[in-house]
Amino acid sequence: MTPILIPPPQFKLCTTCRKPIPFASDYYQCSISTCNRKKTALFFCSVPCWDAHVPVLRHRDAWAETARAPTRDAFMKELEAEQDEEAKEERMTDDSQTRRRIVGAASPDEPVPEDVLVVVSKLKAYVKARGGMSTSDGVTDVLSRHLRALCDKAVAHAASNNRKTVLDRDFEAVLKKET
Ligand SMILES: [Zn+2]
Ligand SMILES: [Zn+2]
Repeated sequence: MTPILIPPPQFKLCTTCRKPIPFASDYYQCSISTCNRKKTALFFCSVPCWDAHVPVLRHRDAWAETARAPTRDAFMKELEAEQDEEAKEERMTDDSQTRRRIVGAASPDEPVPEDVLVVVSKLKAYVKARGGMSTSDGVTDVLSRHLRALCDKAVAHAASNNRKTVLDRDFEAVLKKET
């Protein structure tokens, strides 16, 4: 699956003059860390070439650092390691995407959460005070379903009145219709 790596004819091209920087030769790097980010690193064949980029990127306190280009073999090993790393990362993103598909983020088509919408302890306390009875747990599901149905109707009522807020009068209108 991994594509065959073709060794490049040189380590890098000079960022400024595009002259090749051969393997195992000295080159110059900028002291500013943003000039050395992995994917966008800058390489210079000489100090004048390094000098040329300083005003362009408006460095205030920068200098050229000498570095030694790797040998072709070392460079190829590095490339291979990077490729493996990238392949691994890709596999990981694939996995997490699959997971995301299974878990699923809320979208308009997906069902809304069916949470319990009543305060169970208060409900049980009320029933107890009213009739001296205990309340079975299944009751909260039935009541929650009922509240959801009422909410759906109130939302529709608010929408038909061009509102983006559900008001108490939406519920009153819905309840009046029901009784
Ligand atoms: Zn150069
Ligand atoms: Zn720089």
